[in-house]
Amino acid sequence: MSLADLSPAELSALHEELTTRYEELKPAGLKLDLTRGKPSAEQLDLSNELLGLPGPDHTVDAAGVDVRNYGGLQGLQEIRQIFGDLLGIPADQLIAADNSSLSIMHDSLTFALLHGRPGGAPWARLQARGETIKVLCPTPGYDRHFMLSEALGFELIPVDLDVDGPDLDTIKKLAAEDPLIKAIWVVPTYANPNGAVYSSEVTRELVSMPTAADDFTILWDNAYAVHHLTDDEIKPVDVLGLAAEARHPDRVFVYASSSKITFAGAGVSFFGGSKTIIDWYLANLSKRTIGPDKINQLRHALFLKDADGVRALMRRHRAIIEPKFAAVEEILADRLGSYEVARWTEPQGGYFISLDVAEHTAAEVVRLAKEAGIALTPAGSAYPYGKDPADKNIRIAPTFPPLAQVRTAIDGLATCVLLAAVTRRLAQ
Ligand code: PMP
Repeated sequence: MSLADLSPAELSALHEELTTRYEELKPAGLKLDLTRGKPSAEQLDLSNELLGLPGPDHTVDAAGVDVRNYGGLQGLQEIRQIFGDLLGIPADQLIAADNSSLSIMHDSLTFALLHGRPGGAPWARLQARGETIKVLCPTPGYDRHFMLSEALGFELIPVDLDVDGPDLDTIKKLAAEDPLIKAIWVVPTYANPNGAVYSSEVTRELVSMPTAADDFTILWDNAYAVHHLTDDEIKPVDVLGLAAEARHPDRVFVYASSSKITFAGAGVSFFGGSKTIIDWYLANLSKRTIGPDKINQLRHALFLKDADGVRALMRRHRAIIEPKFAAVEEILADRLGSYEVARWTEPQGGYFISLDVAEHTAAEVVRLAKEAGIALTPAGSAYPYGKDPADKNIRIAPTFPPLAQVRTAIDGLATCVLLAAVTRRLAQ
């Protein structure tokens, strides 16, 4: 029965029952962690062959260049081809780099800030005049995007993000009005944390909308492009093609990596864009490095072989993590469904489930869970400045712990969600 329909006496009885259940959690001495979207050891093991590659017989790439030496700023052609095929981007419009796409996000924004990106002056020049650069943040979103933007002095402007895309009307209005709005963060496929997928139609609107800033940039972070959880392996939207068609070919910076395909800490990252954007990025990059870790790129190319090799590997990941997502959804439905106090996403891919609990209780739920030995990301972390106005969102990352621990943790979490909701209702 919905919590809203319970009489005061029924609420008190439920409160007592939940308190007992919660108190029983504590002596169990749980140490469960649902905080970060990390692959489990079992997933990492799928790529252990990398540890023996490229081997002493493989010291040159397909073009005959010695991978042990300096150079090759754009990265190996063969690894760019594999990821170009997966992302729907020509290999010559991709750069392959070192192990973190977050570093490329940092560098590309810093280059725009210090040197200006094609079509615009250095953003730092505006900052020096006392102006504030602003970035649109579809929310809930990825906390590290927000922290990076904030660290560079940008103001974060939240815009609602639903599972089928962001609030386009608001985005179009703000971008058309304010020349200081220079960018928007987009995680187009299975967004972190709510699993949103941007359709071709939504993408077309974003690449074609009029913007007050000539150098407005879509920060297209396709971190989960191939991370399907169902048989419906959706194809990436041809964002660069659509942008070119809309006569804004330079509007998009594309980011991706193999972090959650091979090794999260030792993968290959990618940057994509129009020819102009790629040339601009390489020109700036040449002052930062003489070349990437080509040995790692070669070992990845040898191991993955081609786009189908990646797709096959991702199905093996899915076999490991899909039961964890299913367990979360099953336990939440079982424990919370009838009370109508929470809503959660059932993502078709990616690494997260976004849980909305009763308003003004998320921080309390996280506190209760912590005391019971269940670590969750701080409430509000999916919001700019860590501030969730309704204090209702909690990000669940189920991939890292073993399945049995996921089940225990979510069951404990459900107790905390209910206890916080009932306590608040009794206090009202
Ligand atoms: N983008 C998103 C949306 C992510 O969720 C993550 C990892 N949690 C990253 C980027 C980090 O990517 P990388 O490992 O390539 O730095």
